[in-house]
Amino acid sequence: MIITIIKKTIIFIKTTIKQVKKGNYSLFLIEFEHAIVRFMEQIRIRACRQNNLKGLSLDLPLHKIIVITGVSGSGKSSLALDTLHTEGQRRYLACLSSQLRQSLKQIPKPDFDSIEGLGPTLALFQQRLLFHPQTTVASHTDLYDLLALLFARIGEQYSPATGKKLQRLSRQEIVENILKRYPEKTKLQLIAPIQIQDEALTDTVSRLQRMGYVKFRLQKHAWDPDMDRWPDQVVSSIDVVVDRISMREGIRERLSQSIETILDLSKGVVEVQEGHDGDTVLFTEIYVCPESGLSFAPLDPADFRPRSKGACPHCQGKKGRFHFLNDQVQWNPKQNIDEQVTELLRHFSSRQSSTYQKLWVAYQESGAGPGDKLLKDLSDDEWSTVLEGDSHPLSISLRVQGEERSLQAQWKGLIHLIEEDLAQKKEESLFYGKPYCRWKECALCLGSGLKQEVLFCRIEKENIVELCQKPIKELLHWFSTIKLTGIEESIANELVPLIKERLQFFLDLGLDYLELGRLCKELSEGEAQRVHLAAQVAAKLSGVLYILDEPSHGLHSHDIQYLQNTLKHMKEQGNSLLLVEHNPMLIRQADHLVEIGPGAGVHGGKLCFQGTLDELLKSKSVSSPWLNGSKRLPAASRPRRSTKHLQISNVDSHNLKNLNLQIPLGILVGFCGVSGSGKSSLLLHCVANELQRFLQHQETSKYVQNPEEVSRVLLVNQERGAVNTRSIPATYIGIMNTLRRLLSETKLAKARGYDAGRFSLNKRGGRCDGCEGLGQVRVRLEFLSDLYVPCELCDGKRFNYETLQVAWNGKNISEILEMTAEEALEQFQAIPDIASKLRLMVELGLDYLTLGQAFHTLSGGEIQRLKLVTELSKENEVPTLFILDEPSSGLHFEDTEKLLQILHRLVDSGHSVYMIEHRLELLEQCDYLIELGPGAGPNGGEVVFQGPPKNLLKKNTRTGVALKEHANGV
Ligand SMILES: [Zn+2]
Ligand SMILES: [Zn+2]
Repeated sequence: MIITIIKKTIIFIKTTIKQVKKGNYSLFLIEFEHAIVRFMEQIRIRACRQNNLKGLSLDLPLHKIIVITGVSGSGKSSLALDTLHTEGQRRYLACLSSQLRQSLKQIPKPDFDSIEGLGPTLALFQQRLLFHPQTTVASHTDLYDLLALLFARIGEQYSPATGKKLQRLSRQEIVENILKRYPEKTKLQLIAPIQIQDEALTDTVSRLQRMGYVKFRLQKHAWDPDMDRWPDQVVSSIDVVVDRISMREGIRERLSQSIETILDLSKGVVEVQEGHDGDTVLFTEIYVCPESGLSFAPLDPADFRPRSKGACPHCQGKKGRFHFLNDQVQWNPKQNIDEQVTELLRHFSSRQSSTYQKLWVAYQESGAGPGDKLLKDLSDDEWSTVLEGDSHPLSISLRVQGEERSLQAQWKGLIHLIEEDLAQKKEESLFYGKPYCRWKECALCLGSGLKQEVLFCRIEKENIVELCQKPIKELLHWFSTIKLTGIEESIANELVPLIKERLQFFLDLGLDYLELGRLCKELSEGEAQRVHLAAQVAAKLSGVLYILDEPSHGLHSHDIQYLQNTLKHMKEQGNSLLLVEHNPMLIRQADHLVEIGPGAGVHGGKLCFQGTLDELLKSKSVSSPWLNGSKRLPAASRPRRSTKHLQISNVDSHNLKNLNLQIPLGILVGFCGVSGSGKSSLLLHCVANELQRFLQHQETSKYVQNPEEVSRVLLVNQERGAVNTRSIPATYIGIMNTLRRLLSETKLAKARGYDAGRFSLNKRGGRCDGCEGLGQVRVRLEFLSDLYVPCELCDGKRFNYETLQVAWNGKNISEILEMTAEEALEQFQAIPDIASKLRLMVELGLDYLTLGQAFHTLSGGEIQRLKLVTELSKENEVPTLFILDEPSSGLHFEDTEKLLQILHRLVDSGHSVYMIEHRLELLEQCDYLIELGPGAGPNGGEVVFQGPPKNLLKKNTRTGVALKEHANGV
């Protein structure tokens, strides 16, 4: 031990002397910091007071897997994210350029006395797992770049016109060919054909003249720019005669020099002409099709990106477009056309809708439109102008930047307007998903978005798109079997092992069924987490502290073993892993355990336990009775029976194998199965979507046979998409209006004439102008995730000084928003409208959330539970089908009990609850279970079990086995 310390010290001193000699002090600082980290075997945290932490002091071992557990809101994230991760980023930035250090000043230092031994940190938090809509598994993990590089280097190019392999000559070969082809004494002109692209002929010619060229040919004839007539029409090319030679012994050197010059000048093409007007022969060093004569430049990796150089010319890389199918619109021949068109125009977003309606009215009033006729009385011509547009000039008046202006316009036609709307906004457009708007893949690139040359670039008959459609397992096999020779082999020997290694990471994570071309946004949450991890493992960092927020989220117990393998792999690469986690399997496998608690918010923030699993099981911590089996959720009463059910038929979307099943209504139904088995496809994409469409638009349902059995459906998922970014819990659950009213009714407010709007975050007047009521300002850092720092103007209080002087029961609006739900419940006990909603928050385990917490800091599970609060507080009488996606995510054992009570209460008051879930203790408590499987991807998509939970215990399905083990306390 001592010897290694001495060795390390010597190495450290040597490197620092080197850096100091170079005057490189910032690198010296990094080295210094890292050297200290290397010496330390642990991170020492002293007196941490961040958020609700109560002067926490603890040592975390490095190069280990550590799990932090504790009830929701106990302070786990305060320690992992707000303290360790923020401080890690701060220290990292401190070593960088002064420009970045400027923004560093704004990052508040977490509240602690000292932290030693903290190296670089990287956080993988659920709320950060947002993908660009076009991101695929391949592009997210950089595998696509590797594949593109491989194709660009060794792919063989074929002609899109004839399918023949393209040929190209090297400069050397061109010279040899000319020497071989022309006998002694032949007179030759060596010509460079120049393509004129973005400039005028005069510019090209004068440029060439300045370079010293004097002999030109235009349209195959000799042409002197100073003497001859200039062409009237636009020309696209001009030839430069670079040299005239006579074939003889010893001409080789001059010939190769001229060829060199010509190839540079013409970008790869040489024309050789015998005599003055003899035959010409073309030689190129770019790819040429021997039959059609089409030529292609060699590809580089950027050519493989559909969004840039590689875009298909037909669809501009968009992979296809929406088409308006007129025969699918339910036109009524006996209704007048004006009403029907006006109705359709209402589907546009409000601003466009009013513009287009004005346009239509102007068109009708101009007399060019069809007028008030019934649809069946329209002539073919009139009908086609309604659909396809009319060039008749119209004038409409619109408000542009607050000014009324008169604009010239034309009726563009319904087809054009709708297709344009879909092309611009796609999923956001209100026409998206309508039966008369259908997505059609681009016929040229077959939906790949890539240009032809790229699709015709192959390695052993496969192009890059075809490779990305293979499941990873098959792809790995393909790479093991390709046979290459010569220079291709040596290039492949460098790249292929890299690609194979990365593919292996996916296999290790149990994702062998995934295709690299899959869009990340289509992945289930469990899959997305693991794709993210695979990218991290592939980055091969070492010495990093990874902070992971509930990595088990979305994973079946069966998948967790894969996750464990990868976490171990990351540890072996020399990293430390800190997991905020409740999953018993991961807790049991951790090297070191920490529990923060005992309660949430002010009742938490203390170190309740740290040590090994054995020590934890014997301790008096909150988690131990749940882990050692002495505490369990109350045994389920007899499962409820249902009398009604949804009839689902022929569901074949994604990997589902033509499913036919009945799902009971009026009871608590759990959907389980391994990650990727098809649970989300069935429940979220088919059942929820179809029911919503039926209920909102009366559209007939393809898969659900009896949608009328459901009067209301509510999807309570973890998506934050529809949530306003300015939302806070107080606005989201709808208590903000009452709060504002209370404040505006105080004496001071009345005296000053403040109305409720004065206390609004969304209106000017009362709120702080610096942060527009957010209390925080976003700082964009170049290569780190965005940082939020308190607003300097209001010191994070969100409102201006005058507004903050108004207080209700001694608390001003800012202080109210700083309260946790639990504190606020006490404060507003007497206001039923507020108290009832806050009580629900407490019951759903959200007692620790402050009323003003920014939404971007909430986990998916917290958002889902807030959605539930909003819904439950409405006291809806209509029987509702609640569809939940892993409601237990982020919940400690203690909190799942509260969740379960709420779910049972819903069912008892006449609603139905369907939920996707992996937590065994919750599945046990369902009335009915449906398991999909048996495996994932193509190996899944079947119903392997349905019935009450006790029957599943007898089955050998993946969930059955896990439930049995759980029941036996393994
Ligand atoms: Zn295309
Ligand atoms: Zn402010």
